[in-house]
Amino acid sequence: MKTSNRITKTALLPALLLAVLAAAACGRVKSVPLHQAFSFDKIDKSASVLPKDMVVGDHLVTYDETNLAGKLPPARPVQAITCGNPELKRVAITIDDGWNTDMRILELLKEWDIEWTAFLIGGRGVAESNLDLVRAVRDAGAEVCNHTYSHYVMSGKDHAFVVDELWRSQEAITRVTHEIYPYTRFSGGAYDNACLQWAAEQGFWMVNWTVSSGDTSKGVTVDFQVNNILGNLRPGAIILFHFGGYNTYEVLARVIPEIQRRGYEVTSLSRVLEGTPFVLRAPD
Ligand SMILES: [Zn+2]
Repeated sequence: MKTSNRITKTALLPALLLAVLAAAACGRVKSVPLHQAFSFDKIDKSASVLPKDMVVGDHLVTYDETNLAGKLPPARPVQAITCGNPELKRVAITIDDGWNTDMRILELLKEWDIEWTAFLIGGRGVAESNLDLVRAVRDAGAEVCNHTYSHYVMSGKDHAFVVDELWRSQEAITRVTHEIYPYTRFSGGAYDNACLQWAAEQGFWMVNWTVSSGDTSKGVTVDFQVNNILGNLRPGAIILFHFGGYNTYEVLARVIPEIQRRGYEVTSLSRVLEGTPFVLRAPD
């Protein structure tokens, strides 16, 4: 279990000031998983003198809940990501959508103290209208990233449509988490060069996957899914799951200990991207 040391506002301010000073001193902000250190819900934001937004390691913390566009620096180099750092023996668990979420998945990951990454849909009854789900996902150890607002296929859509999809979904998530990770995933992993560029201009790298759990295939068996993941395992692998997928809970429960037995750290997207160019840097 994670330590639940909730830091009070008076204790938090010096801590944040130290973080900012340290950042100024060494040019980069030390990676502190803030969402694990305290609860944003406990902070009186109206009285807060915290900076309006700040880069903390791999993500941006903001107390603005709307009009987030422009807060992230452009994501460079422009590239769709399908694998993390091959030099690190880590693999990322990524779980998509948010429809029909099997809550046992969240309980399992929380109980096993796994860091992982969620790509939540903004609309369609998910993040925007189910804040409790966003909160539960974050509290289960996830970096919560956006999976567009409508979950429509983005290829062929125009600039305004794609940009709106990114920020509407991000705002729904950030309303709860107060965080923005510089990653997005589109429906079906489908994108064209135009939307790849537009997402990058907005600060998001397109993140697809190295291996799929196959949990969108009706009739698939747990044995097949587990063997397929283990057969395609490699350092930096990004594994795709779905909250409402076939056998997703059962596969996670079996495959995580197997992956760990092979000497890998089972973790989040940010952890497998460490040491690559695909990480957030504080804007000048
Ligand atoms: Zn999806």
